[in-house]
Amino acid sequence: MTVATRGSLSEFDQFLELSRQIGTDILKTQGAGGNTSLKRDGTMWVKASGTWLAHAGERDIMVPVTVAPLVDALRRKDERAEKATDFVVGPLNSSGLRPSIETSFHAALPNAVIAHYHCVNTIALSVLTNREQVLAERLGATGLSWTTVPYRRPGTPLAREVDAASASRPDVLILFNHGIIIVGETVDEVAAKIETVSASLAMPPREAGVPSFSMLETLSSQTGYSPASDMESHQLALSRENIRLAAGGSMYPDHVIFLGTEIGVLPDGMPLGEFLTSVPAGMAPKLVIVPGHGVLLSDQLTQGGKVMARCLAEVVARIPDHAQVIYLTDDDEHDLTNWEAEQYRQALDREAIRK
Ligand SMILES: [Zn+2]
Repeated sequence: MTVATRGSLSEFDQFLELSRQIGTDILKTQGAGGNTSLKRDGTMWVKASGTWLAHAGERDIMVPVTVAPLVDALRRKDERAEKATDFVVGPLNSSGLRPSIETSFHAALPNAVIAHYHCVNTIALSVLTNREQVLAERLGATGLSWTTVPYRRPGTPLAREVDAASASRPDVLILFNHGIIIVGETVDEVAAKIETVSASLAMPPREAGVPSFSMLETLSSQTGYSPASDMESHQLALSRENIRLAAGGSMYPDHVIFLGTEIGVLPDGMPLGEFLTSVPAGMAPKLVIVPGHGVLLSDQLTQGGKVMARCLAEVVARIPDHAQVIYLTDDDEHDLTNWEAEQYRQALDREAIRK
């Protein structure tokens, strides 16, 4: 790819560096989540489906798409807007990548630089029943313009809401039960806004405790499950509030996509094998909470799945004690688990672990 096709090299390199920074902060991005875009001269470079922002600058992760026809398709409810593959600029797409399933909202926003990520503080605040008030208090002090977007399935349903919300030209869009979008005209401007917003939304994580690794190893021996490898994921099981919040339902899309709709909570004293035979065939949870001890993960989980356990732990740790939470509905969960575009992303995720 030549410098000329991407505009000034320094700008594109700055964009990749910002993408990498967002992608390597676990509190902002987990696995293949989040995406960034840069528009110039009618073309938008956007993160490819299934790739990781953390690899920006090291691997080719950006796909070029033409903006105006994609926005037009979105507004006309042309179904080609969903995958956006028909709008890829083929000659510039040297790696043959497919655009992110969130490409259509990047196109609909009029700004040159867009960062979207699954910030754990944003998710924690945006699932609260009093989210409007809490967000107004925090974001109101930043001096930035902001708005909220109701939960919709990612893809064109969410993109249409973002398109409508962009009419007020916000700097920041809070996507309920999903994450955040921060926009601007230059990479530096967006980076500065991210810093301001991150500080305003920061929530202290609830301190829980220390997992019992030897007990978890014994419990999971020969079961196809293993203790989570990082200390933070175990926090899910080490506080009554964390367990209540995690077991109460699904809070955001990537959780459902990677960990499914059911989380296991092992009854006190029950062997794991007995618990697993009590659930219907094919419904075995990918994540099992052993209250007071720690978290077990299915050995079938990909790296992208394992990191979603960490994400859930980070989110629930930031939800205040006794807070009431708005979970995704059964219909929301059904839409996510029966979605062809996501099956493609999961296939890429499985491929990634073989590399
Ligand atoms: Zn997202």
